[in-house]
Amino acid sequence: MKALVKSRAERGLWLEDVPEPEIGINDVKIKVLATGICGTDLHIYQWDEWAQKTIPVPMTIGHEFVGQIVEVGSNVTDFHPGDRVSGEGHVVCGRCRNCLAGRRHLCAHTLGVGVNRPGAFAEYVVLPMTNIWRHADNIPTEVAAIFDPFGNAVHTALAFPVLGEDVLVTGAGPIGIMAAAVAKHAGARHVVITDLNPVRLELARKAAGVSLAVNPKETSLKDVMQQLDMHEGFDVGLEMSGNQNAFRDMIATMSHGGKIAMLGIPSPSEMAIDWNQVIFDQLTIRGIYGREMYETWYKMTVMLQSGLDISNVITHRYQWNEFEKGFDAMREGSSGKVILDWST
Ligand code: NAD
Ligand code: ZN
Repeated sequence: MKALVKSRAERGLWLEDVPEPEIGINDVKIKVLATGICGTDLHIYQWDEWAQKTIPVPMTIGHEFVGQIVEVGSNVTDFHPGDRVSGEGHVVCGRCRNCLAGRRHLCAHTLGVGVNRPGAFAEYVVLPMTNIWRHADNIPTEVAAIFDPFGNAVHTALAFPVLGEDVLVTGAGPIGIMAAAVAKHAGARHVVITDLNPVRLELARKAAGVSLAVNPKETSLKDVMQQLDMHEGFDVGLEMSGNQNAFRDMIATMSHGGKIAMLGIPSPSEMAIDWNQVIFDQLTIRGIYGREMYETWYKMTVMLQSGLDISNVITHRYQWNEFEKGFDAMREGSSGKVILDWST
């Protein structure tokens, strides 16, 4: 089958002919229809320090996808050929204390699809049945393809109650934009998003219905607070940039008792913050990784069914064999989600 493979320990990705993945008794085999390109895939393409120490070669990459089941293992009774599904990209152990307690998103033995095990940028992908989410018929296939990053956005945006609250989202990448849309949908009063990139700010205005989308170098968050008649600061912060200046600004403009959910991944050596502000303003900071299995997936589905529209975050569409164009768009840094079509 055709697959996009990290086959050499150097920059690049290569379309190759690889054997179809074999199916075990608890597995599901899926014909891939569409995939999303994630920042992680770009790191793997660029072969940066993280990728070099994380990705064994050769590795078929990719974890954001939708497809159709073509075969199920003999133990699988809940899924059937023809079902339209996505896969949770974190494969957990199922046996540790957190897994047994139903907190599978906290498993310390998580393996990443397309990172530690063969991924979905291919004609077929095989996953354990415990990683499969069947889509409702009224979820558009293209949106189903990005349930993985949409799930990051939902997990973060709903980490703390947002009903009636003022929410600050730092970073208007695809995940920040989706998180802003979710916070709005979930009943936040004001949702303010920041980015340094004007194209992304414009996309946020169009795709997320935010109160304000601002460049913090041009408009300070203090000015924003005044403009929106907010006196005490933001109640909930969603850090989606991984940038230390963004995080510092966030901490400085939270209300006392404010709550911050942090998805953006900073460089470990950076991120010097004013801890006194955290303590005296009594802030809560919570790290977020992945999605909750499967409460986040449920919430994604029902929010889409109750009027949330994230489709405008998709800005680029290519065929699988035009993957270089997709990665170019990602590298350029102004795209929303980039989709590759694997259906033909
Ligand atoms: P992205 O890189 O497309 O978006 C980040 C945005 O932050 C960019 O648009 C950038 O211009 C903006 N930014 C940079 N400096 C800023 C500043 N000072 N103020 C405001 N904005 C600033 O990333 P994405 O795909 O949308 O993902 C968001 C973040 O989440 C990334 O850091 C990514 O690595 C991380 N991530 C984490 C998980 C997890 O499970 N924890 C999963 C997926 C992605
Ligand atoms: Zn576990």
